[in-house]
Amino acid sequence: MYKMKRLCVYCGSRPGRRSDYTLVAKQLARAMVNKNIDLVYGGASVGIMGKIANAVLEEGGEVIGIIPKELFVKEVAHTGITELKEVRSMHERKSLMAELSDGFIALPGGYGTIEEIFEIMTWSQLGMHNKPCGLLNVCNYYDNLIDFLDHAVSEQFINEINRSILLVDECPDALLEKFEAYKTPETEKWIDQKTI
Ligand code: AMP
Repeated sequence: MYKMKRLCVYCGSRPGRRSDYTLVAKQLARAMVNKNIDLVYGGASVGIMGKIANAVLEEGGEVIGIIPKELFVKEVAHTGITELKEVRSMHERKSLMAELSDGFIALPGGYGTIEEIFEIMTWSQLGMHNKPCGLLNVCNYYDNLIDFLDHAVSEQFINEINRSILLVDECPDALLEKFEAYKTPETEKWIDQKTI
């Protein structure tokens, strides 16, 4: 079983239209704390980001936030968390989040969230890490994106093995179980020589 100490959660800087998005953030927080898994996230107090940080703290877990200085005001840096790390750039933020975490989950979010989970998946595809990556697909929020990935497989831009990098579930406990059972897909090289 793959044991996680810290999980990175990417999520929206907005709360979104449905209360279920906040609800699932709270459920994920409870599931993480029950398994002694601490939170690494973007360090903001706004949107779903703030909701999951507060929920982990309320459940008794630890929260590490990583935020670029320039976003301190815009995203209202969360000063009540266990540790707030200030970095110089978005790139530094993402690489520190990756370094500190044993797995990566995206809750509903916008460009930032989608960019972050896709970047960490590409790092897995390149063999730069072998930590699990997943989508918490609450209210079918990510259905169209998942369909698109299947389209990319059928159009031969993503191979079947790398498609399996992304774990998906609508339920936090079930997604964490998939993370614990995760084994990195075995590929010899990330580029299939026949496609070059
Ligand atoms: P969003 O999903 O667009 O609401 O953004 C969620 C989080 O991702 C926010 O903390 C954004 O600052 C962050 N974010 C947006 N774009 C990037 C990027 N290119 N690299 C790193 N973080 C980003």
